Amino acid sequence: MIRIGHGVDVHKFSSDRPLILGGVRVADRWGLEGHSDADAVLHALVDALLGAVGAGDIGEYFPSSDERWRGAASSVFVTEALRLVSERGFAIANVDVTVVAETPKLGPHKAKIRSSVASMLGIDEVQVNIAATTTDGLGFTGRREGICALATVLVESASSGR
Ligand code: MG
Repeated sequence: MIRIGHGVDVHKFSSDRPLILGGVRVADRWGLEGHSDADAVLHALVDALLGAVGAGDIGEYFPSSDERWRGAASSVFVTEALRLVSERGFAIANVDVTVVAETPKLGPHKAKIRSSVASMLGIDEVQVNIAATTTDGLGFTGRREGICALATVLVESASSGR
């Protein structure tokens, strides 16, 4: 059996935080505001993982009202989502992430983010794609107010006899 999950996350810029995407420190300033490290890529990924196995959403497991997650590295959330995926008998087939940002230019960082996400998920880099795009100056990303990340995950039954 195969199943698909989708996740979206948005955070606004904050001048005094590092920018962390997919577990990679992309910039030292103009990071994202948020309760945890505000890694929009990993938050979208967590929702996609949970969605694929019908396990709800990130806020149910890691509410921003919980002080335990203040400043937390979002890789913790990915690890838990991955645990739920495998507990329900599924393994990741592939992951596709799109980051929508006018700034910074993510081209030079895509390979590192891909490698980071693959290693976090315990899968091969060929199973992970990281795309970066802009909205051509339109909307909140175009106005450089924040970043949007979208993730799609395909999982397959780990006990399919392969
Ligand atoms: Mg978030």
